[in-house]
Amino acid sequence: MMQTYSFCFQLLPVVASILFILTLRGLSTPSTSDRGNLYGMLGMAIAIFYPFLQVMDFSSPSDTTTLPILIPVVAMLLGGAIGFYIAKKIYMTALPQLVAAFHSLVGLAAIFVACAVLTAPQAFGIIDDGTSSIRIANAIEMSVGAAIGAVTFTGSVVAFGKLHGLISGKRQQYSGQHKVNLITATITIAAITAFVINQAPWLFVVVILMSLLIGILLIMPIGGADMPVVVSMLNSYSGWAATGIGFTLGNDLLIIVGALVGTSGAILSSIMCKGMNRSLVNVIFGGIGGGGAQASETTQSSSDGKNVKLCSPEDAAFIMQNAGSVIVVPGYGMAVAQAQHAIKELADMLKLDGITVKYAIHPVAGRMPGHMNVLLAESNIPYDDVFELDHINHEFSSTDVAIVVGANDITNPAAKTDPTSPIFGMPVLDVEKAKTVLFVKRSLGSGYAGIDNSLFYQANTMMILGDAKKVIEGILRAMKEQAH
Ligand code: NDP
Repeated sequence: MMQTYSFCFQLLPVVASILFILTLRGLSTPSTSDRGNLYGMLGMAIAIFYPFLQVMDFSSPSDTTTLPILIPVVAMLLGGAIGFYIAKKIYMTALPQLVAAFHSLVGLAAIFVACAVLTAPQAFGIIDDGTSSIRIANAIEMSVGAAIGAVTFTGSVVAFGKLHGLISGKRQQYSGQHKVNLITATITIAAITAFVINQAPWLFVVVILMSLLIGILLIMPIGGADMPVVVSMLNSYSGWAATGIGFTLGNDLLIIVGALVGTSGAILSSIMCKGMNRSLVNVIFGGIGGGGAQASETTQSSSDGKNVKLCSPEDAAFIMQNAGSVIVVPGYGMAVAQAQHAIKELADMLKLDGITVKYAIHPVAGRMPGHMNVLLAESNIPYDDVFELDHINHEFSSTDVAIVVGANDITNPAAKTDPTSPIFGMPVLDVEKAKTVLFVKRSLGSGYAGIDNSLFYQANTMMILGDAKKVIEGILRAMKEQAH
């Protein structure tokens, strides 16, 4: 009986690992993402409770009394309550900075665990037999894990500051930047090597301090337009930090989960770089090359003498009802206005009139990967109507109306035509090719990259200025009135 119990118990990490793999698989398409999340929650529940069951060791009940189990339980309840509160309160538009903040905690945890191991290595069973020194392999794992954790910590704090507007989103480049990066990286590697050889605690402190500095130096120069890649890269770093610490603690589950997070984050970063036509190496090493100036530096007055055609919701209703096909291009403004439900209602009405309605999703629309997909799914828009950039771009030229709802940079032709633009090279949705372009936004102001959009002044563009939800509701009202 005890043997069967023990066997099942040993299987728990394997079950959790399989659940995490199924999670990633489930999250790869919107239709299976609910299931993916469920697997993730189950796997995480096992991962959280497994160590408790492990130390409680039911096979020898006498050991259970020795563990001060109350402290981690209280910490978990407290952390869980804070997490629950934040998840309930957070606005969808602030999710990227929340993700960055959470990554910083993973980095911090890696540093703390490594410090705890350093102060009491015997408690973690990593002492070389017959000596008082830490085994070389463990010394390497813990110092590398702590270094990646420290880079993740400060890097994520800077990313949080940039995304939350606490730090300027501009590229903060300076001459000699790459030399400074090279010197700090060399000192860190030297300190890791020296620590592994003589294990002096002050060397470990140097490793952590230098790595904290590297996190700041790497992320500070990266411009706001490249932030999506940074967030997903930091996600990857946090996974590798967890893996390093997992090796030190001899925790297989942590190693596997860390590796899954590390590799999936790296793959996502690479996909996003392709989506934005950026080089991953350039983004990682502090914004080498890539577009010109950034953010407010290049903001132009949008109304300097150029002609803009304004249009009312009533006019828009008329134009759309007389179209045969409509493509909706959602962006960050749709998320701010929470206009997705009104858009779904509008699309349903158009479809009743036999008009084809599709949605075009840009890989970096909004403020986090998949931002638009989540919002459209929330309002039950059929997945079959939603198309990624590569699959819909060729359709704009044969479409009657493209209605851009709170999007800007992802439609900006400057990405194709202006080599000095910070978004030059990023693939954009070819909305200008539609017969009529309806632009819903509050002003002629710029988007995240801080640049003017020539589309506003194009002959076939009509601007409907106002909050996205109110405008779409206005179009709906007009359509209902026209139907009567
Ligand atoms: P943009 O930031 O380019 O444009 C959004 C537009 O929405 C703004 O121009 C704004 O104009 C308008 N808007 C804001 N609030 C409202 C509202 N209530 N009603 C109507 N319109 C509103 O967003 P896009 O989605 O087009 O592009 C995403 C940008 O964000 C890219 O530059 C990308 O690199 C960057 N980014 C993406 C991340 C990701 O992972 N997806 C993460 C971080 C950055 P106005 O003020 O005139 O209303």
